Amino acid sequence: MKKISLLGATGSIGLQTIDILLAYPEKFKLVAFSSGKNIEKTIEIIKQLQPELVSVQEEQAATDLQKQFPTIHFTYGKKGLVEVATHPDSTVLLNAVLGSVGLESTLAAIRMGKTIAIANKETLVTAGHIVMAEAKKHNATILPVDSEHSAIFQSMNGENKKQVNRIIITASGGSFRDKTREELKQVTVKEALNHPNWSMGAKITIDSATMMNKGLEVIEAHVLFDLPYDQIDVLLHKESIIHSLVEYDDTSVIAQLGTPDMRVPIQYALSFPDRYPVKNSTRLNLAQIGQLHFKEVDFDRYRAIKLAYDAGRTGGTVLTAMNAANEAAVSLFLQEKISFLQIDEIIEQIMNDHNNILMPDLETILHVDSETRKTVLGMVK
Ligand code: NDP
Ligand code: MG
Repeated sequence: MKKISLLGATGSIGLQTIDILLAYPEKFKLVAFSSGKNIEKTIEIIKQLQPELVSVQEEQAATDLQKQFPTIHFTYGKKGLVEVATHPDSTVLLNAVLGSVGLESTLAAIRMGKTIAIANKETLVTAGHIVMAEAKKHNATILPVDSEHSAIFQSMNGENKKQVNRIIITASGGSFRDKTREELKQVTVKEALNHPNWSMGAKITIDSATMMNKGLEVIEAHVLFDLPYDQIDVLLHKESIIHSLVEYDDTSVIAQLGTPDMRVPIQYALSFPDRYPVKNSTRLNLAQIGQLHFKEVDFDRYRAIKLAYDAGRTGGTVLTAMNAANEAAVSLFLQEKISFLQIDEIIEQIMNDHNNILMPDLETILHVDSETRKTVLGMVK
């Protein structure tokens, strides 16, 4: 029986994780979870899985829930995320919270030697060097949840990593893959939220439309698999069937395929090294699909990917600045305060103006993160 702490339980990844935990009560026990502001879903999860500890975003909500469920311990805010992540009974943390707010709780769980199943890619982008160094020091295993990284991880299983020539991360192209950059001037939030292949949270759906998601994933791959950026490629593949590929020195390419269903990589990160059936999932039928398509990425069209490669190659606090600028800009776009193309423009501006610090410590990263968010807000006013 694996005992689980779950951050971001009420989100897209979080609720799919809950489904998996409900499907396999004999294999997994949820001991602690965090949610944000969705109290209705929080109550539903409490009733379904009866955890020992729950953290919500606001103090008042924690106080109200405490009265309703006296036998469960409630906490809140950033310290609540750390409490959930470090619950003494859990051995696995699945981090599916949104954004760099997940960083400190991830580090806290790593320092206890827990296994980290990580969906929260912003943490790896903003502080990858610290996360991986701490994981090594404390013997904590980090398992990818992101479908591309799960595919790469599976395609490297049992292989000699020194013989990897390059990894190829596939990209669906997002909601606007058939539009030119010129046509992107007018697009609306509603259109951007309409992803062709995957149903996900709002922020990552916008990241997919700008393709910053792919940029973040390139950095995530560099951090997780310790490969230089020259050995990380992106390939457009509109069907999202091949989740990513690894090419070896002898020219062999190993890939992982499947229907686009996030429950598969989520469950694999929890069940690893075992595999269990995923309830109600569709098996891949290539004959029915007939054709798969591939196309090179145009870095002028998808400027965000280029910005991410630039930040990755530079290293240091520019990664934090880029990530924080993106989080802030996407949030402004979702509130209809800026246009779609302004997201890339803001990130580029922030990166150009940034005074880079290489190998930053945690305090510096947290400072750059909060200052960047303020700067972005100032740029829009
Ligand atoms: P959602 O927006 O659907 O969910 C985010 C979760 O985090 C919710 O539980 C939300 O709470 C909570 N949350 C948000 N802000 C805070 C905060 N400040 N403090 C505490 N909790 C907070 O996101 P997704 O599930 O789509 O994505 C989560 C992570 O997984 C992201 O890093 C994303 O990049 C990554 N990912 C997602 C994929 C997907 O298919 N969705 C695929 C691959 C990676 P509430 O809703 O209660 O307010
Ligand atoms: Mg992905």
